[in-house]
Amino acid sequence: MNKTNRKLDALEYHSKGRPGKIQVVPTKPTNTQRDLSLAYSPGVAEPCLRIAENKDDVYKYTAKGNLVAVISNGTAVLGLGNIGPEAGKPVMEGKGLLFKIYADIDVFDLEVNVTDVDEFVKIVKALEPTFGGINLEDISAPTCFEIERRLKAEMNIPVMHDDQHGTAIISSAALLNACELQGKKLDKIKMVVNGAGAAAVSCSMLYLSLGVKKENLVMFDINGVIHPGRTDLDDMRMAFATTRTDVQNLADAMKGADVFIGLSAGNVVTPDMLKVMAKNPIVFAMANPNPEIAYDVAVEARKDIIMATGRSDYPNQVNNVLGFPYIFRGALDVRATTINEAMKIAAVHAIAGIAKKTVPEEVNLAYNARNLHFDREYIIPKPMDSRLITEVSSAVAKAAMESGVARKQITDWDAYAEELKT
Ligand code: NAP
Ligand code: MG
Repeated sequence: MNKTNRKLDALEYHSKGRPGKIQVVPTKPTNTQRDLSLAYSPGVAEPCLRIAENKDDVYKYTAKGNLVAVISNGTAVLGLGNIGPEAGKPVMEGKGLLFKIYADIDVFDLEVNVTDVDEFVKIVKALEPTFGGINLEDISAPTCFEIERRLKAEMNIPVMHDDQHGTAIISSAALLNACELQGKKLDKIKMVVNGAGAAAVSCSMLYLSLGVKKENLVMFDINGVIHPGRTDLDDMRMAFATTRTDVQNLADAMKGADVFIGLSAGNVVTPDMLKVMAKNPIVFAMANPNPEIAYDVAVEARKDIIMATGRSDYPNQVNNVLGFPYIFRGALDVRATTINEAMKIAAVHAIAGIAKKTVPEEVNLAYNARNLHFDREYIIPKPMDSRLITEVSSAVAKAAMESGVARKQITDWDAYAEELKT
């Protein structure tokens, strides 16, 4: 399909019939007058009174427990930048669609015309009665860090900025598996991170939690290496300042590096830079839509590489959809008060684990593949893998219970897995 056709198809997809991609559908009978008198006045007063007596009953009598808000102010939409809340709405509706099809979670997408941190936090906080969880989306750095930090501290439902943590979780799963295949240990790898935005900072923090050593990580933003002499950076980025004095630019940093993480911009890495990396290098060039170095160019430059990108048309796509539906599913199902580090790390291991198991035939078929198996071209599961919902959601729910943030306990895990499959 050529580019013009694809653009027209996308516009038609969104505009034909009822505009947009989602709708609200009743879940109870509405056929008779009796049904309606239960759904609304006078019957509805009964659940209202129960909830007034015991606030927790809102989970029993309303959709709150399965309802997630996808909230954005449109300041950092996909690879499109600060295009505003209205222009971001197709993305937020799309996120809602993915939540629904992969994890049967209902979403209200909320596009708010607010960039001020205090005001944004105030608005989201006030929505707590409505929602079981909050997925912050496409909010630019550095405000996204403070918004999320404050909302997590001040709200009693799970809050996650997916551009930060979703990416961190999926790329961490890929990193664990790539290191295993390349015979590298996390606490020994030398890592270069290009980009110091929402995704890069949060990925780097999770890599450290998993064992990467801070002294082995060098980070760059558009102005170059992050070092202690920089005066233009906030604390989040300065936490990654390198003490190495032999690194002036990206090419220097790539010498002998085991891992390159790209969360910056397209085509900023050259084949020569890959050629000076250590033996069996790992390159995750995740800038969208064009990676820091093209897949074909990278594997041509280094036969011993493990390469991943954000693109679906090459192997090893780092795609957040492997995480957020199931992380929220697990968190909602035990009514977690937050999404904490233990739950994120549980998701990492669950996702990484799936890639190492025999691939069901349905997944091979869905991707027109004959024999997907754990190797350099298959280090993370595919989005259509139905084991994701059972394994990742269960791991996240378990971690929430074990770390003491669950308000509801699951005891029969087999029954829970069965429930998730349907
Ligand atoms: P962001 O907050 O805007 O951060 C972009 C960062 O890249 C900034 O720190 C920027 O530097 C830096 N940068 C831009 N051009 C650079 C260059 N030539 N060399 C070095 N650094 C450069 O955006 P983000 O949300 O973190 O996303 C970053 C990229 O990753 C985007 O392309 C996004 O699409 C992609 N991404 C992919 C996935 C995925 O594959 N699953 C997930 C998330 C993000 P300054 O701070 O100096 O401006
Ligand atoms: Mg996003």
